[in-house]
Amino acid sequence: MNAHNTASCIHEPLLEMPFEGSVHAAGLISALRDFIHGDLAGLAREHGVDHENSPSRQLLQQVWKLSHARGFYGMTLPTAMGGAGLSVLDQVLVKQAIYATGSPFAPHVLGELSGPPRIGALVRKATPLQMEQFIDPVARAEKAICFALTEASAGSDAAALETRATPEGDSYVLHGRKRFISGSPFADFAVLLASTAPQGSPQREISAFFVDLKAPGAQVISGYKTMAGQSSTGDIVLDGCRVHATQLIGEPGQGLSLALGRITVNRLLHCPAMLGLAHVALCDARDYALGRQQFGRSIAQFQAIQHMLADMATEWMAARALMIQTARTIDAGIDARAQASMSKLFCSETAFRIADRAVQIHGGEGIVQGRRVEFLFRMLRMYRVLTGTSEIQRNTIARQLLETANA
Ligand SMILES: Cc1cc2nc3c(=O)[nH]c(=O)nc-3n(C[C@H](O)[C@H](O)[C@H](O)COP(=O)(O)OP(=O)(O)OC[C@H]3O[C@@H](n4cnc5c(N)ncnc54)[C@H](O)[C@@H]3O)c2cc1C
Repeated sequence: MNAHNTASCIHEPLLEMPFEGSVHAAGLISALRDFIHGDLAGLAREHGVDHENSPSRQLLQQVWKLSHARGFYGMTLPTAMGGAGLSVLDQVLVKQAIYATGSPFAPHVLGELSGPPRIGALVRKATPLQMEQFIDPVARAEKAICFALTEASAGSDAAALETRATPEGDSYVLHGRKRFISGSPFADFAVLLASTAPQGSPQREISAFFVDLKAPGAQVISGYKTMAGQSSTGDIVLDGCRVHATQLIGEPGQGLSLALGRITVNRLLHCPAMLGLAHVALCDARDYALGRQQFGRSIAQFQAIQHMLADMATEWMAARALMIQTARTIDAGIDARAQASMSKLFCSETAFRIADRAVQIHGGEGIVQGRRVEFLFRMLRMYRVLTGTSEIQRNTIARQLLETANA
């Protein structure tokens, strides 16, 4: 990150408010900030890592190991595996604090793309052999794992996937191609969904497998960049890749329910990332407005700029309140499908509007590559598509509203 990118408020909350989480979460946040601003900032400087220059796999492994040694990496795992036993509310607060540091390592501290959050929910279904071969090495930060559902013809309509797993002796043979898989360029394994229905049968049977991406017949094709400038997404090509039947997760046909079983929590857990990044954009815009002089005064003295900042802060607080309320609903054991979709919809649209105004406040400087707001604008644009587009969230909300009326 270059010298232009300073933000004085990233170390403290935007506005004073009581901390909503547990004492344990408050302690974790404080220790995480020290870790990110200390060890990880040092590593980023030493290796020239910023939002445009991704870390190597070797460096990522170093980050995962450091985070593991400090007790952060596995905090989302079940407590029996060393997890911190955090409520959903604590988790969103911890994640927001991580992203609000503005660190390019933010997605890797807890291993969101390829670590424990990818496997935590599978622990209940995994066999002892699967635990030993796939889950434990990821939990120990030795191996990385991605989650592969999407295909070129199966995006929002994920159940339309065409990858096939054909039983042959004691194995399944996989053919197909997965698209846009986060973390796949540096992953060792994938949790991969494929159809196990007999060829030509109208029956739908989607199953989940642990796949070793180094096995014959499996290949990761990466190299394309998203608009945010990262190459952490790739395609997985399966051409006769043989997986042993013991690598099937749960029962045949349970794949989609396994994948979507935690969709409510997973949707919500993207919100703190967006709001953490939007917080950085707001801080950068405020600091720039105070420092930039035009017409003999700081632009922060113009009402037009003040109103943009006021709208940004107000919308940020509203989005955060919705996220917190949804987390509390989930923690109370209440069905929060519609609320989680509302949070994902509102946080992603709001965070992008905040980034857009932050660019506007920076004027020409805001549209020059290398400025942090310019990166944040591109990054926050992506969240309106990722993990269920805004349109798909609206479908979920409307369906639930209409179902309630018909009940
Ligand atoms: C950077 C990145 C990382 C990703 N990571 C992963 C990953 O790790 N694992 C994984 O499996 N997938 C991953 N994805 C895939 C991602 O989840 C899909 O891109 C997303 O679900 C949208 O699917 P699509 O791109 O095929 O768009 P489409 O489904 O083709 O949608 C195109 C447009 O049509 C609209 N649309 C579609 N259906 C409807 C409908 N019923 N009603 C109204 N509008 C509709 C959409 O909202 C959108 O505006 C990733 C994608 C990206 C870009």
